[in-house]
Amino acid sequence: MTDCLFCSIVSGAIPADVVLRTDEVVAFRDINPAAPVHVLVIPVEHHATAAELGAANPVAAAAVLAAAGEVAALEGIAESGYRMVFNSGAGAGQTVFHAHVHVMGGRDLTWPPG
Ligand code: AMP
Ligand code: ZN
Repeated sequence: MTDCLFCSIVSGAIPADVVLRTDEVVAFRDINPAAPVHVLVIPVEHHATAAELGAANPVAAAAVLAAAGEVAALEGIAESGYRMVFNSGAGAGQTVFHAHVHVMGGRDLTWPPG
């Protein structure tokens, strides 16, 4: 999608601090980090939400989850603990409608989130 911010990051039209890239996913640092480690993992293929991604392409959805775990290991937070967050819908805080998981860690994370 030409008018999608994250499709533009996939294509390279908009630069990002990429930490992992495969044929199926791209992982890059959030531009406005809410934790010492805050990486977004997105599928290369455009789907608006995580649920739509899972329904349309379960293989790509699994690749996103596996990559999120890989990012946690690369960033050194796999042992200390981290959170995977999928905001789905504007009411839940989703602002970019290209499915993405926030991988967050490096500090104590309170539960439940607000
Ligand atoms: P969400 O609010 O769940 O849709 O998450 C979107 C995230 O994308 C926010 O945490 C933003 O800080 C982040 N973001 C927006 N633009 C960029 C960008 N150009 N590069 C990296 N992260 C971005
Ligand atoms: Zn997109």
